[in-house]
Amino acid sequence: MSSIIQLLPDHVANQIAAGEVVQRPASVVKELLENAVDARATDIKLIIKDAGKSLVQVIDNGLGMSVTDARLCFERHATSKIRQAEDLFSLHTKGFRGEALASIAAIAHVEMKTKQDQEELGTHIIIEGSKFVSQDVAVLPKGTSFSVKNLFFNIPARRNFLKSEVVEYRHIVDEFQRVALAHANIHFTFYHNGSEMFNLPPSNFRQRIVNIFSGKTNEKLVPVQEETEIVEIKGFVSKPEFAKKSRGEQFFFVNDRFIKSGYLHHAIMGAYEGLLKDGAQPSYFLYLQVPPNTIDINIHPTKTEIKFDDEHALYAILRSAVKHSLGQFNIAPVLDFDR
Ligand code: ADP
Ligand code: MG
Repeated sequence: MSSIIQLLPDHVANQIAAGEVVQRPASVVKELLENAVDARATDIKLIIKDAGKSLVQVIDNGLGMSVTDARLCFERHATSKIRQAEDLFSLHTKGFRGEALASIAAIAHVEMKTKQDQEELGTHIIIEGSKFVSQDVAVLPKGTSFSVKNLFFNIPARRNFLKSEVVEYRHIVDEFQRVALAHANIHFTFYHNGSEMFNLPPSNFRQRIVNIFSGKTNEKLVPVQEETEIVEIKGFVSKPEFAKKSRGEQFFFVNDRFIKSGYLHHAIMGAYEGLLKDGAQPSYFLYLQVPPNTIDINIHPTKTEIKFDDEHALYAILRSAVKHSLGQFNIAPVLDFDR
């Protein structure tokens, strides 16, 4: 009998895990922005070059990391956000898997600078393809900066698979907008190839939406509000006359996290029944707060899908809340003269 099973070395395991977490530069943007939010930053800067292919950098003024944590954060399953399995049911952070930084560092050149407020000096680490290149003490501002260069340098197939800069840039904007919409109280700035693309001062949800999607959005928005035992709903939907031909600005946030849900989308479309021309798509920005123990976020590595305990009740509440709001604003059905 000969045994042939071996445990994979860490750098290989990390590279495999990275395949799930990091699909494109936008995935790096999402993970770094969410880490900055989790670190309670009030100011977050996103700097990219060549649609993220050459550089993705996120600078925050959050909690920073100790010398030990600065090194440990690149290990797989290393996280400060949960300690035991039960914590998965009371999540208040974006992260919890402890996989993002290990994955990113496995397939890119990463430079990190971090300093905690109470410390005199910070830590400067360079790590490339899971290998620590250097670690120094450095004079730094409070907070953390991650620079990610040469993404997929050691996975040519992935690198070649990247789409045009226009497409990759669009994905990055999507991720940026989702995080910025979920956290209106945080100041976000975004630079691409040296130009300022967004500068979003701290504000409320309505103002944040307007700052991202232009001033004209303001008159289109109808507020939605509902509070029940299983969900608190806040946000805005667009008046039916502003519906668009294509699906555009449609956002659900559950406990401050952007999620995709065909099922909840259907509930919204139900609320617009009889108000829209065939195929027209409303805009919506809906913020749902639910008790953390009534959802499961751990069903997909990118965490954009959620399992709800009581999906049917949520559907009904959402549909009626939106319908009520549309009704309150005296919106008459559209008469479709085209037919
Ligand atoms: P997760 O977010 O799931 O915990 P990550 O790999 O994204 O896993 O990050 C690992 C750990 O590194 C985090 O739990 C956190 O303690 C620390 N960390 C990451 N980014 C930051 C940051 N911007 N500021 C402070 N700490 C950070
Ligand atoms: Mg994270």
